[in-house]
Amino acid sequence: MDDCIFCKIVKGDISTKFEWDNDGIVAFDDIEPIAPVHILIIPKKHIESLKKVKKEDTELLGNIQRIASELAEKKGIKNAFRVLTASGKEAGQSVFHLHYHLIGGWKDKAPEMWTGKNSKADK
Ligand code: AMP
Ligand code: ZN
Repeated sequence: MDDCIFCKIVKGDISTKFEWDNDGIVAFDDIEPIAPVHILIIPKKHIESLKKVKKEDTELLGNIQRIASELAEKKGIKNAFRVLTASGKEAGQSVFHLHYHLIGGWKDKAPEMWTGKNSKADK
C-alpha cells in the first residue's frame, strides 16, 4: 500500500536496520521504545490487522511467534518478554499494517499489565 509507513519500510523507501528479514517477515526497532528492547515484527505483505487475517496467513502468523522467540534469544531477553498486537483504533492500533511488539529487557520486573484506566477492574 502506497501510503503505509510499514510497507515503505519493507520496500526500503525508509532506511531501516532489520533485526530479521526472512520468511516474508521483517523486524526492526520501534522508533519510540517503551522498554529497553522494543522490536516490531511485521509481515512483508500488507495486512491491516489481525481482524483481516485469512486462513492462508496461518503459517505466517506461526512464523511470527517463532521469530519473536528467536529474536528474544538474540537480544538476551528470553527469560522475560511480551509479544503484543493491537487490532483496531480503539484498541490502540496506530499503524494499520499488522505488527507485533516484542518488548522486554526490564531491569527487575516488567510493568503491571491489565491496569489501564479503562479496564473493567476500574469500574
Ligand atoms: P501500534 O500503536 O500498536 O499501532 O504501534 C505502532 C508502533 O509503530 C508504535 O510503537 C510506533 O512507535 C511505531 N512506529 C511508527 N513509525 C515507525 C517507524 N518509522 N519506525 C519504527 N517504528 C515506528
Ligand atoms: Zn503496509
